Amino acid sequence: MGHLIPVIELGKNLVMHHNFDVTVFVVQTHASISQSQLLELSPDPNLINIVLLPPVDISDIVQPTTLILTQLAMMMRKALPSLRSEISSMKIRPTVLIVDLFGTEAFAMANEFRMLKYVFITSTAWFLALTIYLPTIDRGEEDEHVNNQEPLNIPGCFPVRFKDTFEPLVNRDDQIYVEYVRMGKEISMADGILVNTWRNLEPKTLRALEDPKMLGRLTHAPVYPVGPLVRPVNPGSTSEVLTWLDVQPNESVVYVSFGSGGTLSAKQTTELAAGLELSQLRFLWVVRPPFEYDAAAALFRMGERCDETPSYLPDGFLTRTRERGLVVPTWAPQAEILDHPSIGGFVSHCGWNSSLESIVNGVPMVTWPLYAEQRMNAAMLTEEVGVAIRVEVLSGKEVVGREEIAAAVTKIMVEKEGEEIRVRAKTLKSTAKNALSKGGSSYKAMDVLADECNNYQRCIQGRALG
Ligand code: UDP
Repeated sequence: MGHLIPVIELGKNLVMHHNFDVTVFVVQTHASISQSQLLELSPDPNLINIVLLPPVDISDIVQPTTLILTQLAMMMRKALPSLRSEISSMKIRPTVLIVDLFGTEAFAMANEFRMLKYVFITSTAWFLALTIYLPTIDRGEEDEHVNNQEPLNIPGCFPVRFKDTFEPLVNRDDQIYVEYVRMGKEISMADGILVNTWRNLEPKTLRALEDPKMLGRLTHAPVYPVGPLVRPVNPGSTSEVLTWLDVQPNESVVYVSFGSGGTLSAKQTTELAAGLELSQLRFLWVVRPPFEYDAAAALFRMGERCDETPSYLPDGFLTRTRERGLVVPTWAPQAEILDHPSIGGFVSHCGWNSSLESIVNGVPMVTWPLYAEQRMNAAMLTEEVGVAIRVEVLSGKEVVGREEIAAAVTKIMVEKEGEEIRVRAKTLKSTAKNALSKGGSSYKAMDVLADECNNYQRCIQGRALG
């Protein structure tokens, strides 16, 4: 969902503001997204054409230990033939291909079909910088980072501390490392790179990406910061959760959610429940059944959804907190929740969409990163942007304790110490809005991109006529 949502928002933007015809091809596994969920994302089916490619089966090539990012890369590879056949059978062959980070292997097909080829990074410019820098990194420098836990210096950007590093870097003997380096190389060969950020949010990193003496030397592709592209609130949306929020005081509720797949251990779930109870604050918590076969404190479960009663919560927790807490199993309407005036803070796994949804609503965060690039996101949000505080989820430390959780949510929600962060979150909200408004930096970046695509279209039409 974290990739699909911004991709569909990008599609809508291209249709509504730039008059393009857009088709979104979705690769699925047997367990993944349903047509009805997709329709929820795109309420008007006439706006963009969504094509579900036939489910791919990777069960013959994955092991129980295969990392999720490797699985995604494998799925995308297996889906290439059906993508190719769908595109070749289209009555009007598209002029432009925009792929997700995991889809860069489709560039070969784009070359063959003479399509312009772009990649859309549904994360930060900082993550993009790391990705295109990695294939060129000096081995010794990489060893310093991975073995000696030194910060990784990316030219012109904030260094990545070892505790925030991106998973594939510490798994250099794993397939994931090979896949990630390949993606970095392929991204550099795109005709352009779109990224779900905006100039005011990451000015330094964006400058480094454009500077030919810094990261700009690694790719000829222009970078288009087009964000924040987030799912808009559905104005007609009704649910038990929103009705409950309606009767809570302004900015009084802390929202807790770990994205579409973030899962905690049973021990961590108990501790989080105790921390929320200890804080005595109002809360809305999207819970997911804990995993128990792994000693690590967090895991991503792909495509799982279930509606069972959360019996794994501490005895009596629901009764004791009934007056001020609401627990929702597995899934909740997050865009609408974060937009609600009763929400005052967000405990988040820092998936980039969740982070953006919090920012566009001016909601300060407690960052609780779990996997993928979320530790980098947490570092950026707390130290560089200043709209969050962080709980320390370090590998080796078994769980985040209840006192630490209670202290963090209290600080972000009510304490004087958190005031500066709350104010900054509100200021950032307006810079996000400005970036997308007419004349704003992201609006202009989309205009330039659209011009480039239109010019190319005219050029190939001219060639066909000539
Ligand atoms: N989401 C939601 N309800 C939930 C959990 C997640 O609507 O209960 C949405 C959330 O609003 C966000 C996306 O799913 O748009 C999750 O994306 P993110 O990048 O934050 O994290 P990921 O799920 O990819 O780890």
